[in-house]
Amino acid sequence: MNARRMGAAGAAVLIALGLAACGSSSDGSGDAAAEKATGKKIKIGTKFDQPGLGLKKGTEMSGFDIDVATYVAKELGSNAPDIEWVQAVSAQRETLLSSGQVDMIVATYSITDKRKEQVAFAGPYFIAGQDLLVRADEKDITGPESMVGKKLCSVKGSTPAQKVADKYPGVNLQEFATYSECVAGLVSKAVDAVTTDDTILAGFAAQDQFKGKLKVVGKTFSEENYGIGLKKGDTEMCQKVTDAINKMIKDGAWQKAVDKNFGPANYKPSTGNPPTPAACS
Ligand code: GLU
Repeated sequence: MNARRMGAAGAAVLIALGLAACGSSSDGSGDAAAEKATGKKIKIGTKFDQPGLGLKKGTEMSGFDIDVATYVAKELGSNAPDIEWVQAVSAQRETLLSSGQVDMIVATYSITDKRKEQVAFAGPYFIAGQDLLVRADEKDITGPESMVGKKLCSVKGSTPAQKVADKYPGVNLQEFATYSECVAGLVSKAVDAVTTDDTILAGFAAQDQFKGKLKVVGKTFSEENYGIGLKKGDTEMCQKVTDAINKMIKDGAWQKAVDKNFGPANYKPSTGNPPTPAACS
């Protein structure tokens, strides 16, 4: 191998090392980057575009769901570098689980009876509520009732979109694939408001590019119990994940993750948090 070739090989190794370090996002303990892969690979579906919850920036993942997932994975025997993050948009979550493309979903995923027909859930590990995001100068929109005849954006396959379709038929519901698309539509005035969980909306409103431009209405009208989605029927896995959630709440890592990820958006979890995970059935 000539000197130039060796240089290139060396550079490739350095790049690979750099990527590995970036991929090992923090689990709240602060030293995840120093962790070694255990060889026990795990595929976790999450959001890539939700600030404060599940956000991919370059190769780095951050957010509350990322910290919860990283903690749970570790309890299952996989360190941060063993995690392969897979983008799981709302409408794809059940398919990703049932087809085995991911081992679990940690993606602002509300536990519902309808979803339980297709997948299993451990949790809840957090309780959020549906709210509205509007432009900062908006005065007329104060709740879902004031959206009649107006364009309201939400995401396909999400519980907030379903709720609007069921309960507020006079609203002009626009269903996009992701919340970041909805928020772009709100800024460009293609839609009048965005609806989903208050956690997600607060995360967007606090982004530098939206500061002073968007506001959360602040009147929740649902209870969203976030669960970790698992393949239906895997009770043993459900029990292990439930034990991990309980441990995370007990040892303070849950609160640390809340402060770190929701603090910047000034989002305060509602009473009822931290929840008590349900028994696996
Ligand atoms: N928590 C709601 C749901 O599971 C809305 C957020 C989302 O779409 O991820 O559908």
